Amino acid sequence: MPWGLHERLWPLKYIIFLALFGISLTSLALAEQLAEIEPFKTAIVLRFMRDWWFVAFALLLIGAGLFIERFFCRYLCPLGAALAIPGRLRMFDWLKRYRECGSPCLRCYHECPVGAIHPEGHINPNECISCLHCQVLYRHDRKCPVVIQKRLKRERRAGTAGRGSGAGAGDAPGLAGGELPPPPRLSDRQERTPEQPAPETVGPGPGRRTQKEH
Ligand code: SF4
Ligand code: SF4
Repeated sequence: MPWGLHERLWPLKYIIFLALFGISLTSLALAEQLAEIEPFKTAIVLRFMRDWWFVAFALLLIGAGLFIERFFCRYLCPLGAALAIPGRLRMFDWLKRYRECGSPCLRCYHECPVGAIHPEGHINPNECISCLHCQVLYRHDRKCPVVIQKRLKRERRAGTAGRGSGAGAGDAPGLAGGELPPPPRLSDRQERTPEQPAPETVGPGPGRRTQKEH
Protein backbone atom coordinates (compact mmCIF):
# COMPACT_ATOMS: atom_id res chain seq x y z
CA MET A 1 0.00 0.00 0.00
CA PRO A 2 1.38 3.46 -0.86
CA TRP A 3 2.59 5.37 2.18
CA GLY A 4 0.27 8.36 1.57
CA LEU A 5 -2.85 6.18 1.54
CA HIS A 6 -1.59 4.12 4.49
CA GLU A 7 -1.11 7.31 6.52
CA ARG A 8 -4.58 8.59 5.62
CA LEU A 9 -6.23 5.33 6.69
CA TRP A 10 -4.54 5.33 10.12
CA PRO A 11 -7.03 7.76 11.74
CA LEU A 12 -10.03 5.62 10.77
CA LYS A 13 -9.76 3.42 13.83
CA TYR A 14 -9.54 6.44 16.15
CA ILE A 15 -12.68 7.90 14.57
CA ILE A 16 -14.49 4.56 15.01
CA PHE A 17 -13.38 4.35 18.62
CA LEU A 18 -14.45 7.90 19.44
CA ALA A 19 -17.81 7.37 17.68
CA LEU A 20 -18.45 4.16 19.64
CA PHE A 21 -17.44 5.84 22.88
CA GLY A 22 -19.74 8.81 22.22
CA ILE A 23 -22.67 6.57 21.30
CA SER A 24 -22.11 4.42 24.39
CA LEU A 25 -22.70 7.49 26.55
CA THR A 26 -26.22 7.80 25.20
CA SER A 27 -27.15 4.23 24.26
CA LEU A 28 -25.13 1.27 25.41
CA ALA A 29 -27.30 -1.15 23.43
CA LEU A 30 -26.68 0.71 20.16
CA ALA A 31 -22.94 0.92 20.87
CA GLU A 32 -22.91 -2.83 21.44
CA GLN A 33 -24.57 -3.40 18.08
CA LEU A 34 -22.15 -1.09 16.30
CA ALA A 35 -19.22 -2.80 17.99
CA GLU A 36 -19.96 -5.63 15.57
CA ILE A 37 -17.46 -3.87 13.36
CA GLU A 38 -15.13 -6.25 15.15
CA PRO A 39 -15.58 -9.56 13.30
CA PHE A 40 -14.37 -11.78 16.14
CA LYS A 41 -17.83 -12.59 17.45
CA THR A 42 -18.85 -13.77 13.98
CA ALA A 43 -15.66 -15.63 13.18
CA ILE A 44 -14.64 -17.06 16.55
CA VAL A 45 -17.56 -17.06 18.99
CA LEU A 46 -20.35 -17.96 16.52
CA ARG A 47 -18.12 -19.69 13.92
CA PHE A 48 -19.89 -17.94 11.02
CA MET A 49 -23.30 -19.37 12.08
CA ARG A 50 -25.34 -16.16 11.81
CA ASP A 51 -26.97 -13.79 9.32
CA TRP A 52 -25.25 -13.64 5.94
CA TRP A 53 -24.28 -9.96 6.15
CA PHE A 54 -22.22 -10.57 9.28
CA VAL A 55 -20.52 -13.49 7.55
CA ALA A 56 -19.92 -11.43 4.38
CA PHE A 57 -18.39 -8.61 6.42
CA ALA A 58 -16.08 -11.00 8.29
CA LEU A 59 -15.04 -12.70 5.04
CA LEU A 60 -14.39 -9.29 3.46
CA LEU A 61 -12.01 -8.39 6.29
CA ILE A 62 -10.30 -11.76 6.11
CA GLY A 63 -9.90 -11.29 2.34
CA ALA A 64 -8.39 -7.82 2.82
CA GLY A 65 -6.03 -9.30 5.38
CA LEU A 66 -4.71 -11.71 2.77
CA PHE A 67 -3.41 -8.80 0.70
CA ILE A 68 -2.62 -6.23 3.41
CA GLU A 69 -1.03 -7.63 6.53
CA ARG A 70 -3.18 -7.04 9.64
CA PHE A 71 -5.63 -4.92 7.65
CA PHE A 72 -8.27 -4.82 10.40
CA CYS A 73 -5.77 -4.09 13.20
CA ARG A 74 -4.10 -1.31 11.22
CA TYR A 75 -7.12 0.61 10.04
CA LEU A 76 -10.34 -0.41 11.77
CA CYS A 77 -9.77 -1.88 15.21
CA PRO A 78 -11.35 0.42 17.84
CA LEU A 79 -9.72 -1.56 20.66
CA GLY A 80 -6.27 -0.96 19.13
CA ALA A 81 -7.09 2.75 18.94
CA ALA A 82 -8.18 2.79 22.59
CA LEU A 83 -4.96 1.06 23.66
CA ALA A 84 -2.81 3.48 21.64
CA ILE A 85 -3.95 6.41 23.78
CA PRO A 86 -2.35 5.28 27.11
CA GLY A 87 0.61 4.14 24.98
CA ARG A 88 1.42 7.83 24.43
CA LEU A 89 2.26 8.11 28.15
CA ARG A 90 5.23 5.76 27.84
CA MET A 91 8.28 6.72 29.93
CA PHE A 92 11.03 5.24 27.78
CA ASP A 93 11.81 5.51 24.11
CA TRP A 94 13.33 2.06 23.97
CA LEU A 95 13.01 1.38 20.22
CA LYS A 96 16.47 2.37 19.00
CA ARG A 97 17.27 4.08 15.71
CA TYR A 98 20.43 5.19 13.94
CA ARG A 99 21.00 8.49 12.19
CA GLU A 100 21.14 6.49 8.97
CA CYS A 101 17.61 5.11 9.46
CA GLY A 102 15.44 6.51 6.69
CA SER A 103 18.28 8.28 4.94
CA PRO A 104 19.75 6.40 3.26
CA CYS A 105 18.63 3.06 4.75
CA LEU A 106 14.98 2.02 4.28
CA ARG A 107 15.21 -1.60 5.34
CA CYS A 108 13.21 -1.27 8.59
CA TYR A 109 10.64 0.92 6.82
CA HIS A 110 10.08 -1.85 4.28
CA GLU A 111 10.13 -4.70 6.79
CA CYS A 112 7.94 -3.37 9.63
CA PRO A 113 4.87 -5.68 9.50
CA VAL A 114 2.39 -2.89 10.27
CA GLY A 115 4.06 0.04 8.50
CA ALA A 116 4.73 1.86 11.77
CA ILE A 117 8.09 3.24 10.60
CA HIS A 118 8.04 6.44 8.60
CA PRO A 119 10.12 6.71 5.42
CA GLU A 120 12.15 9.34 7.31
CA GLY A 121 13.18 6.63 9.78
CA HIS A 122 11.30 7.38 12.99
CA ILE A 123 8.74 5.09 14.57
CA ASN A 124 5.11 5.94 15.16
CA PRO A 125 4.58 4.44 18.65
CA ASN A 126 0.78 4.53 18.24
CA GLU A 127 0.97 2.08 15.36
CA CYS A 128 3.84 -0.07 16.65
CA ILE A 129 2.81 -3.51 17.89
CA SER A 130 6.18 -4.11 19.61
CA CYS A 131 7.09 -7.11 17.50
CA LEU A 132 10.76 -6.01 17.87
CA HIS A 133 11.66 -6.92 14.29
CA CYS A 134 13.28 -3.51 13.76
CA GLN A 135 15.33 -4.05 16.92
CA VAL A 136 16.60 -7.36 15.57
CA LEU A 137 17.63 -5.53 12.39
CA TYR A 138 19.17 -2.74 14.50
CA ARG A 139 21.72 -5.23 15.83
CA HIS A 140 22.02 -7.51 12.80
CA ASP A 141 25.60 -7.59 11.53
CA ARG A 142 24.55 -9.06 8.18
CA LYS A 143 21.52 -6.87 7.44
CA CYS A 144 21.87 -3.45 9.06
CA PRO A 145 24.39 -1.37 7.05
CA VAL A 146 25.51 0.52 10.17
CA VAL A 147 26.33 -2.70 12.03
CA ILE A 148 27.86 -4.21 8.89
CA GLN A 149 30.25 -1.25 8.67
CA LYS A 150 31.21 -1.66 12.34
CA ARG A 151 31.81 -5.36 11.86
CA LEU A 152 33.92 -4.85 8.75
CA LYS A 153 36.03 -2.26 10.56
CA ARG A 154 36.45 -4.64 13.49
CA GLU A 155 37.46 -7.47 11.18
CA ARG A 156 39.92 -5.25 9.30
CA ARG A 157 41.50 -4.14 12.59
CA ALA A 158 41.70 -7.74 13.82
CA GLY A 159 43.22 -8.86 10.49
CA THR A 160 45.79 -6.06 10.52
CA ALA A 161 46.70 -6.71 14.16
CA GLY A 162 47.04 -10.43 13.47
CA ARG A 163 49.36 -9.87 10.53
CA GLY A 164 51.33 -7.23 12.48
CA SER A 165 51.97 -9.49 15.50
CA GLY A 166 52.86 -12.37 13.18
CA ALA A 167 55.54 -10.26 11.46
CA GLY A 168 56.93 -9.10 14.78
CA ALA A 169 57.35 -12.66 15.96
CA GLY A 170 59.08 -13.51 12.72
CA ASP A 171 56.89 -16.55 12.12
CA ALA A 172 54.69 -15.26 9.26
CA PRO A 173 55.66 -16.99 6.05
CA GLY A 174 57.28 -14.70 3.52
CA LEU A 175 57.87 -11.82 5.97
CA ALA A 176 61.21 -10.99 7.43
CA GLY A 177 61.30 -9.84 11.06
CA GLY A 178 60.29 -6.17 11.43
CA GLU A 179 58.81 -6.02 7.90
CA LEU A 180 55.37 -4.29 7.70
CA PRO A 181 52.42 -6.49 6.70
CA PRO A 182 51.07 -5.91 3.20
CA PRO A 183 48.04 -3.61 2.81
CA PRO A 184 44.65 -5.31 2.40
CA ARG A 185 44.24 -6.73 -1.08
CA LEU A 186 41.56 -5.37 -3.39
CA SER A 187 40.17 -8.90 -3.69
CA ASP A 188 39.53 -8.88 0.10
CA ARG A 189 37.17 -5.94 -0.29
CA GLN A 190 35.54 -7.50 -3.34
CA GLU A 191 34.84 -10.67 -1.38
CA ARG A 192 32.90 -8.62 1.17
CA THR A 193 30.77 -6.77 -1.32
CA PRO A 194 27.91 -9.31 -1.27
CA GLU A 195 27.51 -8.66 2.46
CA GLN A 196 26.48 -5.11 1.79
CA PRO A 197 22.69 -4.53 2.12
CA ALA A 198 20.45 -5.22 -0.86
CA PRO A 199 20.32 -2.14 -3.15
CA GLU A 200 16.57 -1.79 -2.82
CA THR A 201 16.84 -1.27 0.95
CA VAL A 202 19.34 1.57 0.68
CA GLY A 203 18.56 4.70 -1.20
CA PRO A 204 17.81 8.35 -0.73
CA GLY A 205 14.94 8.63 1.74
CA PRO A 206 12.02 10.86 0.85
CA GLY A 207 12.60 13.17 3.80
CA ARG A 208 15.02 14.27 6.49
CA ARG A 209 15.86 12.04 9.44
CA THR A 210 14.45 13.19 12.73
CA GLN A 211 15.97 10.98 15.43
CA LYS A 212 19.51 10.53 16.63
CA GLU A 213 21.37 7.35 17.43
CA HIS A 214 20.76 6.29 21.01
S1 SF4 B 1 18.60 -1.73 8.95
FE1 SF4 B 1 19.76 -0.51 10.47
S2 SF4 B 1 20.21 1.48 9.47
FE2 SF4 B 1 18.63 0.41 8.25
S3 SF4 B 1 16.72 1.29 8.99
FE3 SF4 B 1 17.08 -0.62 10.17
S4 SF4 B 1 18.24 -0.01 12.03
FE4 SF4 B 1 18.27 1.71 10.56
S1 SF4 C 1 8.75 -3.10 16.89
FE1 SF4 C 1 7.80 -4.14 15.09
S2 SF4 C 1 5.89 -3.00 14.77
FE2 SF4 C 1 7.15 -1.73 16.09
S3 SF4 C 1 8.22 -0.35 14.68
FE3 SF4 C 1 9.56 -2.12 15.04
S4 SF4 C 1 9.11 -3.55 13.35
FE4 SF4 C 1 7.41 -2.06 13.45
